[in-house]
Amino acid sequence: MTWNAATPSSVTAVAAGGAAAGSGGRLDWAQVQQSLRKQVAEEDYETWLAPLTLDVVDARGVTLTVPTSFIQSWVEQHYREIVATSVEGQLGRPVAVNIRVAPVFHSMQAPKAAAEKVPADVPAPQVADDEAAGSRFDPRYTFATFVTGNSNEFAAMAAQRVAQEGGFNPLFMYGGVGLGKTHLMHAIGWDIGARRPAEKILYLSSEQFANRYVRAMRERDLLKFRERVRNVDVLMVDDIQFVCGKDGFQEEFFHTFNALVGAGKQVILTADKSPHDLANLDDRLRSRFASGLTVRVEPPGVEMRLAILQSKAAQLGLELPTEVLESLAVTIASNVRELEGALNRLVAQSRLMGAAITLEFAREQLSDLYRLHTRVTTVDDIQKAVADYFKIRVADMHSPRRSRHVARPRQVAMYLCKQLTNKSFPDIGRAFGGKDHTTVMHGVKAIQSLMESDGELAEHVGVLEGMLGGRRG
Ligand code: ADP
Ligand code: MG
Repeated sequence: MTWNAATPSSVTAVAAGGAAAGSGGRLDWAQVQQSLRKQVAEEDYETWLAPLTLDVVDARGVTLTVPTSFIQSWVEQHYREIVATSVEGQLGRPVAVNIRVAPVFHSMQAPKAAAEKVPADVPAPQVADDEAAGSRFDPRYTFATFVTGNSNEFAAMAAQRVAQEGGFNPLFMYGGVGLGKTHLMHAIGWDIGARRPAEKILYLSSEQFANRYVRAMRERDLLKFRERVRNVDVLMVDDIQFVCGKDGFQEEFFHTFNALVGAGKQVILTADKSPHDLANLDDRLRSRFASGLTVRVEPPGVEMRLAILQSKAAQLGLELPTEVLESLAVTIASNVRELEGALNRLVAQSRLMGAAITLEFAREQLSDLYRLHTRVTTVDDIQKAVADYFKIRVADMHSPRRSRHVARPRQVAMYLCKQLTNKSFPDIGRAFGGKDHTTVMHGVKAIQSLMESDGELAEHVGVLEGMLGGRRG
């Protein structure tokens, strides 16, 4: 997890990106440790702070590692303040401090104090597969960097539980692209590596799995393949939908699966659909896949998208204007990968051009994304949103009914049409079941003046306006 040790109001990507190493950039870790030791009880220091190791000081700030996620979360909850202040005090400047988990059996490298260095890949947990570079876990994908909310809470809890003590076998996570399934798998890998370093984990994209299998068939060496795949404590196969249709694969996987689960080994799978909905899946596998715990990852809502952006920005050691993050969060609703991509692009551009990241800068640099994602709001959108919101039927938008509970929402919709589209009063009248333009004018005025006296109504309108957002059409 990351936090900004200091939050100077106008730090831009440029400052954080390079020239910031004004006062040397060297961090004397021994001094920081001494200072920490003075600030807490000896026992607490030994338990929680002594395990902190300096990993790297670079453009992203200062990265410290701890051996387990438990220590990490404890340090964050109880000691983040003093750690950050001590680091800053030593360094003589504000800096972002990151703490991440690096399994202790790997953190034997000497602390690197080199500035301007991209953080070294922390060696992954015991990966049972030496050939596959792809089977290394990405150090950015940990539980600590995974933002949770309604859309993925259950999946994240299940993943954590499996990492902690197993129990759901298989764990099957499914959902659309870019929603964090791979991230969660890697996080499980890191966490298991930290908790039970002796366990062998095999992480394979389904492509890797299929390639291995096909090669083994060709080389008539299926036994070796089986031995390799089955001789692990944890088998993870990512995006299993891609191999479902492959010849012979299902048969092989069925046996692998049974062998592993039968021996009490953990199997973790992801796919774009639930076992029930996966096409081309043999019924035996379908029921096996569904026999553990199946969890769905859904697209995040706007608030969560904002939280994710804030967390990513903090990880990059950046303090960006909230309006920029909000605007990205509102605009890019498709998936987290795109959201992250947009942020990275923006940061790279600002570094390149030496420009601060403002809302105008974002709109300019990401104009293609803004155009793509900012749909023009139509009268239909508005009628539907307002009807939904006030729980009336869309047909009531067009009807002549005058009872208050439909007439008022209808006026709200008319008002929003005037605000959010370029339609004229007569146009709007026609779209509301052929009403006269004076009826529309009257409705719009009524809402305008009511909003001044009726706070609740003003709030409803505000929420709807936010939901519909968009550009004038
Ligand atoms: P999937 O495997 O579902 O297609 P990924 O796990 O590759 O998606 O996620 C795409 C990107 O979005 C990754 O960089 C990942 O770190 C990020 N991401 C997705 N969900 C979250 C989240 N809840 N919190 C933080 N980052 C996330
Ligand atoms: Mg993935």
